[in-house]
Amino acid sequence: MRFKLILAVSLMMLLGLWVWSINNSQTKLIFCDVGQGDGILLVQKNLEILIDTGPDNKKILNCLDRHLPFWDKTIEVLIVTHSDGDHSGGLKDVLRSYKIVNIFSDEQLEALNEQNIYSKKLYATDMVNVGLINYEVVNPEKNKENVQGANEGSIAGILTYKDKKILLLADVPAEVEQKMVWRKMLNQKINVLKVSHHGSETATSDELLEETNPSVAIVSVGKNNRFGHPRKEVLEKLNKRGIKTLRTDESGEIVFNLD
Ligand SMILES: [Zn+2]
Repeated sequence: MRFKLILAVSLMMLLGLWVWSINNSQTKLIFCDVGQGDGILLVQKNLEILIDTGPDNKKILNCLDRHLPFWDKTIEVLIVTHSDGDHSGGLKDVLRSYKIVNIFSDEQLEALNEQNIYSKKLYATDMVNVGLINYEVVNPEKNKENVQGANEGSIAGILTYKDKKILLLADVPAEVEQKMVWRKMLNQKINVLKVSHHGSETATSDELLEETNPSVAIVSVGKNNRFGHPRKEVLEKLNKRGIKTLRTDESGEIVFNLD
């Protein structure tokens, strides 16, 4: 009797592993539903890149728990685009639950002493490679004297996997978008655009949309947030160009299979 029970439990576990490995054979891009903020996860087999941790509300942990198998407690790359609470508030929780191999940020982060690691800065043209995924930094520029605030200096980049391009703009304002366009840093077709600053009217310029011609736009935003994000004029601009727009406040978590 006991032997049969053990056998049944083992078979169930094997079945679970098998189902999980089928689900996980795909490369997935997940815009986690973190409320008002950003939390973006890219999973390629057992490798992960996490970009921002959302606010201090534990929602990023729900997202990680759902998409990583219970035995994988290591995140290969974590990028904190800037220190505003809606992007870095969940960092302490992430550090308590996961081992981070490499962490990048716009400035030195205090929460890191929990793991005794140091964050490295990223600048335009830097490349981060994880498995088959490339992340090319497009902002900030190395010469940061002219940077006016956290949003302007926030880390933005293009994720490339096979022929798919994903542009993640953190909270950069329109002036930074335009500067990147003038410098020809964005002159390529983008499949998925994470619009800057939760759909604020301070970003998503015509120059940006003209240059990158995105197929899909993602707005990472909290329901009934006090900032009035996303702005009507931004949504209309996207709509007028025929860009399909998905919002985390309406759809919850948004998942793309990139294979
Ligand atoms: Zn933000």
